Amino acid sequence: MNSSLNAARRSRELAEAGDLVVDVLVVGLGATGAGAALDAASRGLSVTAIDAHDLAFGTSRWSSKMIHGGLRYLARGQVRVAHESAVERGLLLRHTAPHLVRAQPYLLPLTPAVSGGQAATVMTGYRLGDGLRMAARTPRRLLPGPARISAGRALSLAAPLSPNGLRGALLSWDGRLVDDARLVVALARTAASRGARILTRCRALELAGDGARVRDELTGSTFAIRARTVVNATGVWAAQLDPDIRMRPSRGTHLVLRPETLPGLRAGLHVPIPGESNRFALVLPQHDGRVYVGLTDEPVEGPVPDVPQAPEEDVAFLLDVLNSVLGVPLGRQDVAGTYAGLRPLLAAGGRTADLSREHALLTSGSGVVTVVGGKLTTYRRMAEDAVDRVVALGRLGAGGSRTARLPLVGAGAVPEARAVRKVGAVPDRLRARYGSEAGAVRALMAEDPALAEPLPTGITRAELVWAVRHEGALDVDDLLDRRTRIGLVPEDRAAALPAARAALAY
Ligand SMILES: Cc1cc2nc3c(=O)[nH]c(=O)nc-3n(C[C@H](O)[C@H](O)[C@H](O)COP(=O)(O)OP(=O)(O)OC[C@H]3O[C@@H](n4cnc5c(N)ncnc54)[C@H](O)[C@@H]3O)c2cc1C
Repeated sequence: MNSSLNAARRSRELAEAGDLVVDVLVVGLGATGAGAALDAASRGLSVTAIDAHDLAFGTSRWSSKMIHGGLRYLARGQVRVAHESAVERGLLLRHTAPHLVRAQPYLLPLTPAVSGGQAATVMTGYRLGDGLRMAARTPRRLLPGPARISAGRALSLAAPLSPNGLRGALLSWDGRLVDDARLVVALARTAASRGARILTRCRALELAGDGARVRDELTGSTFAIRARTVVNATGVWAAQLDPDIRMRPSRGTHLVLRPETLPGLRAGLHVPIPGESNRFALVLPQHDGRVYVGLTDEPVEGPVPDVPQAPEEDVAFLLDVLNSVLGVPLGRQDVAGTYAGLRPLLAAGGRTADLSREHALLTSGSGVVTVVGGKLTTYRRMAEDAVDRVVALGRLGAGGSRTARLPLVGAGAVPEARAVRKVGAVPDRLRARYGSEAGAVRALMAEDPALAEPLPTGITRAELVWAVRHEGALDVDDLLDRRTRIGLVPEDRAAALPAARAALAY
């Protein structure tokens, strides 16, 4: 079946949704829900998956975009979670999404604030992390091992570092997503190609083990979706649909810097947080040239907002930590944008940073299976566990999960010779975002050269049109805030708004 999502397909499938009884209803289309829809559909089950807003509307688009090897879990003695993380990273890099996940180098600058003992401890951790890579059978050619490097080499990889007192740096490698929201879109489209109905702007008002009452957020009409089993994958909002669940979200804030703010930054940075022995801020160069700086971990009380905001105290904290390693300190005016996300942590005692990041499966009295917690890196494993649970509960007669080796839309080589013959060379930027579909996106520009016009971050008008035709974008917010990340910088968003409107009418 076709993987393209668009307004016409949504209308058609929405009209059918009320008349069917599907095997699995998935509520929530972040990484976990889109992963569950794919897992179930690829086992041959009939699936409807809904989101109150859009694909990747929730926490999944506010991550640090790291595909973790599990080191931090090892440091807490969570060996099983650490191993699971390393295995999932390997699957993404090798089989399921090699176009969206790349190896990223990180430096821990050895400044006077980092003692020799601390550096030795961190290096031991990095070596253990490399052991996890080996245990997960991820080849070193995909993820090189750690090394101590000289101050000169560190400055060649990260020119903005202050040279004063720099003894060198510890170099390590981990996975990085080109864009977390694109992973969700790829999951949803791959699920759609296996027959799953992917319906955005459909809010579950009430859930039961045999379906949901749903409101079409575009028309306001309500209807029922009947299902043999139901997965609640609504992340930080899970408790709104199951009152037995208690969440204790924690806010993580990132700063967004323009490409020219930290020129010559070719590696990410682990910056020790002053006064804490094993906590680091992250400086994360992005594929589009922007740099993110994160991240805080603050418990949040009260109602869960649709879009969390980054408070000024988080911004000041991150700037202070960043400035502790820069040659030329940055000010508030250098911060072009900010974003904050809420970690979907289950309530338990202790500080949120110490809460288990493992995922949980909870079955309500009415038979709804909630899958919550975990992280982006382990979405596939969370999805597999949730679908295993509903298959057993609903006696659905499906086999085991098939997603470990199932390439997502775009995985695989760009059909090189054909693309070049038809449309000329396909830029690396497009390959990294579209993988094997890059040639088709490029072909749009060949058909209409006006579509090649670049917008902020280098995104072209063609990509907006592609998002409307194939990636389920229904309005300008979908285009600017999720199919592309232009919207992370408000000025860039305003500049691209007319192009987004034009793409919807194209
Ligand atoms: C700041 C931050 C940084 C992070 N960095 C990383 C990282 O680098 N690497 C990593 O592996 N993990 C990271 N994580 C963790 C990871 O982002 C999350 O664990 C993961 O994205 C959660 O995905 P989810 O699908 O469970 O939830 P979400 O992405 O929040 O999806 C839930 C969806 O449910 C929908 N929904 C809610 N209510 C309803 C309803 N009533 N009806 C229909 N739909 C509904 C929402 O619109 C939303 O789209 C980070 C988390 C945070 C907060």
